[in-house]
Amino acid sequence: MTILDGKALSTQLIDSVKEKSAQLSPTLAVILVGENPASMAYVRNKRRACERAGIEYQEFNFSTDITQKELLDKVEELNQDDSINGMIVQLPLPDHIYVPEVIRAINPKKDVDGFHAYNLGKMFLSSEFEDLPPATPSGIVKLLDHYDIPIQGKEVVVVGHSNIVGKPISTMMLNRDATVTTCHIFTQDLATHTQRADILIVAVGKEKLITADMVKDGVVVVDVGMNRNSEGKLCGDVDFEEVSKKASYITPVPGGVGPMTVAALILNTVHATERQKQ
Ligand code: NAD
Repeated sequence: MTILDGKALSTQLIDSVKEKSAQLSPTLAVILVGENPASMAYVRNKRRACERAGIEYQEFNFSTDITQKELLDKVEELNQDDSINGMIVQLPLPDHIYVPEVIRAINPKKDVDGFHAYNLGKMFLSSEFEDLPPATPSGIVKLLDHYDIPIQGKEVVVVGHSNIVGKPISTMMLNRDATVTTCHIFTQDLATHTQRADILIVAVGKEKLITADMVKDGVVVVDVGMNRNSEGKLCGDVDFEEVSKKASYITPVPGGVGPMTVAALILNTVHATERQKQ
């Protein structure tokens, strides 16, 4: 069994763009609303990665009573500012904010999270059009590629169908000619699907949802989940201890998909800047 070391690859990928970054001087703007501890930790990791890559990082903090209009005005201001190359609005946002409208307001060319319908729609054409793919799915593909794990013709089972992970990673796997099954909360008998998987990608948010009896020998497991267990420790959706005994490759949590998401965001920021300056 091999651990898919997202932390090491993330550092390597971030270092690989330093030279390009020095030529392009990209700037990433991050909008953070409120003080959600998880969001603050994610944003901190993004800032550190920008520093390492040589990307200028600008953070805009707002209190949770920000109105929809004030937030949209800020997005528009950053859209108009030519010195800003990439922009992300850290999710989740407070309940009174209508998220689809905020994402739609971001200039797709600066949408380095890859959440805008324009960038998501382009992905449906083929892998060639994955210009600014969503960061987490993009990071997963880079991790599989780095370890030379074949995708073409494989049975890929994705658990979770969110717009930011489950649906786009299903599309990216289809673009690479896998046979894809996407499972979700309404899937009847989840185990019958997961047991068929050559590559199992789990993005749900439920500790130990995937147990050893639900996978076959030799499976490649990508665990996107981020949960706190009863001891307050970070863990994924997969029972790592038991499932790793059957897996050929598996991502740890932490140290797997999380750092790869940050690396993909950095690559998207450099790519967006390059296209804007062409
Ligand atoms: P979400 O919270 O928007 O949706 C959860 C998905 O899981 C839905 O598709 C739902 O149908 C499905 N689901 C819920 N219960 C299920 C069950 N019992 N069986 C099968 N499917 C079930 O999803 P999200 O935003 O993609 O987040 C999923 C997890 O991934 C969370 O733990 C989140 O913190 C984590 N996450 C991690 C990263 C990272 O970089 N590592 C990035 C994004 C999300």
